[in-house]
Parts: sequence; structure tokens; C-alpha cells
Amino acid sequence: MKKKLLDQLKAKLEEEKIKLVKELSAFAKRDKNLKGDWDTRYPSLGSTSLEEEAEEVEEYGNLLPIENTLELELQKINLALEKIKKGTFGICEKCKKPISEARLKAYPQARYCQKCQPKKEKR
Ligand SMILES: [Zn+2]
Repeated sequence: MKKKLLDQLKAKLEEEKIKLVKELSAFAKRDKNLKGDWDTRYPSLGSTSLEEEAEEVEEYGNLLPIENTLELELQKINLALEKIKKGTFGICEKCKKPISEARLKAYPQARYCQKCQPKKEKR
């Protein structure tokens, strides 16, 4: 891969990482015991009524899937940055063939080439 493109993708990944960490910090805190893991803060604003309490529980339930999605994305980005360091970036984890530049430009944290990408995931 050309160095110029690699630098470009690395910058994009780092930008994305900052954005994700910011989004996560808004409602989650880093798990001290598990590296790279985030926990949604359980709202404990000292609710006074049962109704309020129910609302807080609901909010927590709504945030959890968002947290999981952001966390997974962040892990993929960290993995991609790690691969840039190791020099294995842009290689499909399954078939070990290079991932197309167009795909990496659109989604630099891609782990697999188009062919090997599990169909369950959107990308
Ligand atoms: Zn592949």
C-alpha cells in the first residue's frame, strides 16, 4: 500500500477514534478492569418517585445497545491502528489477500475483504 494512502487512512481512523471516545464519554465510563471496555453509567440522580426511577431504568436500557455499537466500532478502529503499526493493515484476516483501496477508503477499519465479510454485519 502506498504510504500516502496509509497516512490518509490512519488520520481518518484517529479522527474517528476521537469522535467515538467523545460520544462514549457522554454516557459511559471506561471499565477499569477490562481494557477497551466501556460501561454505561447507571443513572443515579437520586430519583424521588417510582415514576422517575422507571424512566431512568428505561433510559439505561436505551443507551446500552448504543454503547455496545460504539464500543465495537472503537475496538475495530484500535485494531486497525494496531495493524498499521505492525504493517499488516489492509490485509484480509481470513484469506490474507489485500482489501481493496476503495473499501478501505470507505471503511478503513474493515477486517475482511468484500468476499470474506460475514453477511450478518453491514460492512
Ligand atoms: Zn478475504
